[in-house]
Amino acid sequence: MKFSKLFIKTKKDYPKDEVAVSSQLLIRAGYIDKVAAGVYTLLPFGLKVVSKIITQIRSEMDAADAQEIYMPGLVPKANWETTDRWKTFDALYKLKGADEREFALGATHEEIVVPLAREFVESYKDLPLALYQIQNKFRNEIRAKSGVLRTREFLMKDLYSFHKNEEDLNQYYDKMIQSYWNIFDKCGIKEKTYLTFASGGTFCKYSHEFQTETEAGEDEIYVCAECKTGLNSDILADQENGKFKCPDCANTEYEIKKAVEVGNIFKLGTKYSKPFDLNFVDEKGKKNLVIMGCYGIGIQRLMGTIVEINHDEKGIIWPKAVAPYDVHLISLEGSEKRGEEVYQALFKAGISVLYDDRDISAGEKFADCDLIGIPYRLVVSQRTQDKIEVKKRDEDETKQLSEEELLKILG
Ligand SMILES: [Zn+2]
Repeated sequence: MKFSKLFIKTKKDYPKDEVAVSSQLLIRAGYIDKVAAGVYTLLPFGLKVVSKIITQIRSEMDAADAQEIYMPGLVPKANWETTDRWKTFDALYKLKGADEREFALGATHEEIVVPLAREFVESYKDLPLALYQIQNKFRNEIRAKSGVLRTREFLMKDLYSFHKNEEDLNQYYDKMIQSYWNIFDKCGIKEKTYLTFASGGTFCKYSHEFQTETEAGEDEIYVCAECKTGLNSDILADQENGKFKCPDCANTEYEIKKAVEVGNIFKLGTKYSKPFDLNFVDEKGKKNLVIMGCYGIGIQRLMGTIVEINHDEKGIIWPKAVAPYDVHLISLEGSEKRGEEVYQALFKAGISVLYDDRDISAGEKFADCDLIGIPYRLVVSQRTQDKIEVKKRDEDETKQLSEEELLKILG
């Protein structure tokens, strides 16, 4: 893509109410546009990052034998009434259609996926089953002050798993914990992320959150000094005498950290299969309720968290796997023809290139390049002649490489 053809421009400023660094940078660098508190448009760069994140997530979900579907955003009132959540789910956006039928915009999808599974699950042979989607969620958040870290409308990966017994659920749950680590590793936030125990509801004492340490986080977690397991501070009251005790290793030393929840996983048990009577016939011919788990990742929040963890004073530093482009090519004055040649050569080699061909100063081009945060900066100028100057976004060192040497690195 040539920068001169893009409709977006980088900005010096951001809306005054935008307090999170991630959203300030994403707005200034032209990834997102703010519509209202908690409501954003994804611009071309932002959509590319989101697509890359989704690619990483899909590959992990597919490896875990999950099948992708796409459920509606409009969820009928009757479905919410079956689970009693029409009254109890505070964050639902409720609306009435022209024929007076009532709906809520999907804030989560147990109310659709469980009756769907009931149509197809009959015997133990139909289990386990895992269905997921990547789809827009709507939540009527009272607090929407943390930019893309907490929004009212967002893409979410929500996976629902169905099992014949608890043992099978536990196995899948552990597999999913590993899948989540793989995703967060690719997204460059694994080192700062803690698997955190949180309150679990009816079936289990605990659910799990993946909490990433950042000053922009709205949560407070207690991290075990011994094994790095986290504990959401909201459930500290459960602990003996109100004191910290690690649920994993029983150690009592801890550190308090501010964090943002980038993923959560729940063992639901029969909480939703019961109201919808989702059952199966077991090996002995006996009817049982299906045991369920659910597993979520908010995509824009993950994008924001990646930026919180991967930036410096100049701008964003994208991990390779989720960067909007592979390289950011800059041609300086007098080297436009050479720039075009390199751009075409990289394009032909299958490298995705943002080519800054604009008629602006070198300083402005370099500043925008650092702000946008693509992993490699390439410069052609009269000084580099037939070589290309290559610099990684997170390093200071530059190298002069031939096209061939450059393609080797990028390949
Ligand atoms: Zn521990």
